[in-house]
Amino acid sequence: MASSPSPFPSQTWDVIVVGGGNAALCAAISARRLGASVLVLEAAPKFYRGGNTRHTRNMRCAHDAATEILTGPYTEDEFWDDLQRVTQGQTDEDLARFMIAESKEMLTWIVEQGVRFQPSLGGTLSLGRTNSFFLGGGRAMLNALYRTAETLGVEVRYDSEVVGLEIADGHLSAVQVRCGSAAARLAARALVAASGGFEANIGWLKEGWGEIAENFLIRGTPYNRGTVLRMLIDHGATQIGDPTQCHAVAIDARAPKFDGGIITRLDCVVYGIVVNRNAERFYDEGEDIWPKRYAIWGRLVAAQPDQIAYIIFDASSLKLFMPSLFPPIAADSIAELARKLDLPEQKLVATVESFNAAVQPGTFDPLNPDGCRTEGLTPRKSNWARKIEQGPFYAYPVRPGITFTYLGVKVDKAARIIMGDGAPAANMFAAGEIMAGNVLGRGYAAGIGMTIGSVFGRVAGKGAATHARHSHA
Ligand SMILES: Cc1cc2nc3c(=O)[nH]c(=O)nc-3n(C[C@H](O)[C@H](O)[C@H](O)COP(=O)(O)OP(=O)(O)OC[C@H]3O[C@@H](n4cnc5c(N)ncnc54)[C@H](O)[C@@H]3O)c2cc1C
Repeated sequence: MASSPSPFPSQTWDVIVVGGGNAALCAAISARRLGASVLVLEAAPKFYRGGNTRHTRNMRCAHDAATEILTGPYTEDEFWDDLQRVTQGQTDEDLARFMIAESKEMLTWIVEQGVRFQPSLGGTLSLGRTNSFFLGGGRAMLNALYRTAETLGVEVRYDSEVVGLEIADGHLSAVQVRCGSAAARLAARALVAASGGFEANIGWLKEGWGEIAENFLIRGTPYNRGTVLRMLIDHGATQIGDPTQCHAVAIDARAPKFDGGIITRLDCVVYGIVVNRNAERFYDEGEDIWPKRYAIWGRLVAAQPDQIAYIIFDASSLKLFMPSLFPPIAADSIAELARKLDLPEQKLVATVESFNAAVQPGTFDPLNPDGCRTEGLTPRKSNWARKIEQGPFYAYPVRPGITFTYLGVKVDKAARIIMGDGAPAANMFAAGEIMAGNVLGRGYAAGIGMTIGSVFGRVAGKGAATHARHSHA
């Protein structure tokens, strides 16, 4: 088949940015503001531009005082403490502290690029002090960044998947891109790889998780397949992070395989019990407040038979949480619920009965750890334990929902990719999910995905433009 004429201007670009999400746009804007010619290559069609960033709502930044929209200070030290706790120390301290310090400026820099914030929304994991919410959500945020980038003269091409990198001795000379039936080789003085993780590549997930990864749902874009990440590693970039480490939550099992986004999340675990396919409980549902525990449930469900679980609760809890897009499955008795869920009926009845028998008297407080607990039950439920006895009875089926992967390329504070010999690449930079593993060895603090992308995107764009200017000379 004859190939179509190339949709790409033939020139040597100062900076080619691969990806079309937050990290890519921050890089493109900052490079362009330094006078570089910048081309953004986004694999997705225009409507789906912006990868996982489309689904986001907020960003975590340090700040020393309350702002118009943030209720109080969130110091660098506190941010660092939070990061250290959630990662259990598996983070590059130098890089993480750098990111946290830079995050302060993000609150104004990102606004200068056209993004608007709004006060924290209700039902959003109590983040009003630490996280700034995008007015209109991630899509509106992206629209603002694209508008600014294009106004500044950044060229953007959609449906343009980078399929090859020409790299010799740690130096990139060109990228190969496919756009429909057209293919092109585009020369560049510098590269910013901002093409996300590999969460949408089930084959790659299986390398870490085994066959069970077939049962995972991917909460975000199907375009983050790790193609560029793989090529960089194959060309000698230093890999960082564990292939099974990722952000994974329990989401409605009826969600689509990809791109279900935020509306499939379920926040009712703490108000009920969670059973597996054998109708057995397997973890303390009331261990801590939901914002501190929601990101462990993807992994917990992944460890259950067939990677499925069911949140069971009764009418008294129905109005306590933000519902999923899908209605809960309802029944007038636990036995009927078991039949509807195809769970062993006697077993579910017995599990609920023994749970109810173990519940201790207490004063229920839906928003704070209330000490309402079970006694003599394994696993125990430490808070919010109330008898499941008031029909109708409800259930949500849940599966692991993968948000994004952590394995990536190692970078330094200038976002330069570190090659196998330990030296930074001269003209290759990385930002966002593709290097998240530098900061997130494990665990997660809400809103940090966007911090990683914004801070390192801006730094990468600056570094790439500066390198390009010097190579002109
Ligand atoms: C449902 C959901 C909600 C979330 N909510 C939040 C939140 O509120 N706050 C937060 O901080 N984080 C949140 N996250 C995580 C956050 O989305 C990511 O950490 C962040 O958006 C990553 O930005 P990025 O630019 O690195 O990647 P992305 O925004 O995913 O962009 C990657 C881009 O690369 C493109 N691409 C991939 N391969 C190629 C290729 N070969 N050639 C060309 N282009 C390619 C993709 O099309 C995509 O545009 C959420 C994620 C999900 C899924």
